[in-house]
Amino acid sequence: MKNVLITGASGGIGQAIARAFAREGYGIALHYNRNGECAHALASALRTEYGVPAAALCADLRNSEAIAELITRAQNELGFIGTLVNNAGIAQQKLFTDITDEDWENMIGIHLSGTFRCCRAVLPEMIRRHEGTIINISSMWGQTGGSCEVHYSAAKAGVIGLTKALAKEVGLSGITVNCIAPGVIRTAMLDSFTEEDLDALAEETPVGRIGTPEDVASAAVFLAGDGARFITGQVIGVNGGFVV
Ligand code: NAP
Repeated sequence: MKNVLITGASGGIGQAIARAFAREGYGIALHYNRNGECAHALASALRTEYGVPAAALCADLRNSEAIAELITRAQNELGFIGTLVNNAGIAQQKLFTDITDEDWENMIGIHLSGTFRCCRAVLPEMIRRHEGTIINISSMWGQTGGSCEVHYSAAKAGVIGLTKALAKEVGLSGITVNCIAPGVIRTAMLDSFTEEDLDALAEETPVGRIGTPEDVASAAVFLAGDGARFITGQVIGVNGGFVV
């Protein structure tokens, strides 16, 4: 059976990615940090609705040891983790000059160091088996830069650089590494936006709406599938044309 580990599977996009992979028959390791209730309820729903193995596993991705333990537990629960989706993240809007050292370390720690450490932990077994796929969730702000989100943009740009370099390094080992760069996607991450803000963003988007978590999930399932074996090191925009 194919297995996938999704970080941040208690969040909006992560939950949709988990459901989409379960629909394809994957065994699912659902990572969460604080929202265990949601992750355990989703694991139970996936087992019942899709008949797939599903386990909810906790880790703070700012902690290197917690990540090593997360990957070991996922492998113990499900077996070989052939697909890793690095999706966990936080958002913060601040003027550049107000960003504290702690804000910076948190942002880089979760998005970039967390992605690095999760990749490092799953890769030895992927390399040994000569198969695997890694999907990193970046952001359109990692491509273009977002005002008042310099630390977020820098972390997400770092994820793009990591993706491209790692794809070159592990291609001959049968492993693909790609990025999805979502645009505006309706999840709790947008809770600070008013409905008017969201309407304005929808109007600015060429397809005339903001995205759904399912829009991102279908791109992830595609990148993990057999039809995407010749795609690696790429940044796939899922943004309704907001960035072209
Ligand atoms: P979300 O609903 O807020 O979910 C965030 C997830 O990250 C949650 O599962 C949360 O876990 C986890 N997380 C937060 N801090 C963590 C930590 N220290 N250690 C481990 N996990 C942690 O956000 P989302 O919108 O689904 O975002 C998912 C990804 O898409 C993020 O990387 C985000 O940057 C990216 N993205 C989102 C948008 C958008 O418009 N929504 C656009 C572009 C890119 P708990 O809840 O269990 O604590």
